[in-house]
Amino acid sequence: TCGAGDSQTIVIGLAADSGCGKSTFMRRLTSVFGGAAEPPKDAPELIKPPKILVIEGLHPMYDSRVRELLDFSIYLDISNEVKFAWKIQRDMAERGHSLESIKASIEARKPDFEAYIDPQKQFADAVIEVLPTQLIPDDNEGKILRVRLIQKEGVKYFSPVYLFDEGSTISWIPCGRKLTCSYPGIKFFYGPETYKGNEVSVVEMDGQFDRLDELIYVESHLSNLSSKFYGEVTQQMLKHADFPGSNNGTGLFQTIVGLKIRDLFEQIVASRAETPVGAAKA
Ligand code: ADP
Repeated sequence: TCGAGDSQTIVIGLAADSGCGKSTFMRRLTSVFGGAAEPPKDAPELIKPPKILVIEGLHPMYDSRVRELLDFSIYLDISNEVKFAWKIQRDMAERGHSLESIKASIEARKPDFEAYIDPQKQFADAVIEVLPTQLIPDDNEGKILRVRLIQKEGVKYFSPVYLFDEGSTISWIPCGRKLTCSYPGIKFFYGPETYKGNEVSVVEMDGQFDRLDELIYVESHLSNLSSKFYGEVTQQMLKHADFPGSNNGTGLFQTIVGLKIRDLFEQIVASRAETPVGAAKA
């Protein structure tokens, strides 16, 4: 990804289909930065450049001119099965739509999704892929999730998170004395892969946590988290235990990506301080 050149603002792209967790991700991200997201305001006002700008929506990585402005990009890739389950939850349970109308609206959106939203994942520096669990054969409830954090290699200021040993392939079941798991358990995976023609490392979590405070046990086995203190991931997850996905890989990986973005931000700011923009003119 090309950086934003001389501009002082660090620009992040966050792409996903509607109803796929962008707002939830934004809430976790702003919390990691220690603030609240600025709500759009109705009245005219003077907009000053922020230190960090997140372009969040359906198409932030579609147009190469916008893409080239991004210092880092994220795609939330919710599989059709899971998207359907979430939409039912929101539109049927909370908004009173019928199952048929939800199905029809998903079908109607599909051509545009496939042409203009989905192709952006090839450009993303990090993809959070959300799939049905593999721990329950033929699960179709979409409640237990298998979540993959796909991290591009060779991205400046971004060094991927890994499990146990960088570059190895590892399968890990943390359930036991130190982590309480009920059916169907929890399974982690880590390893190098090729994704859309790019070298990536993948950390995967299938299943869900029974007790969020025990997440510290999992956190202590992950490296390169860019946390500022031991247990920061667990602390963030506990702080927002009420957000959707806090008991599974969606919340865990969104939190981790938040820490990586903070780290990227701090590194870029530090590198710009070494070579100040106005130096040549002074
Ligand atoms: P967007 O901003 O992309 O439209 P939201 O963050 O508002 O998405 O989420 C939309 C809905 O999807 C939420 O109300 C919730 O029902 C569901 N949802 C989002 N993220 C998750 C998650 N990680 N696990 C379960 N449900 C989720």
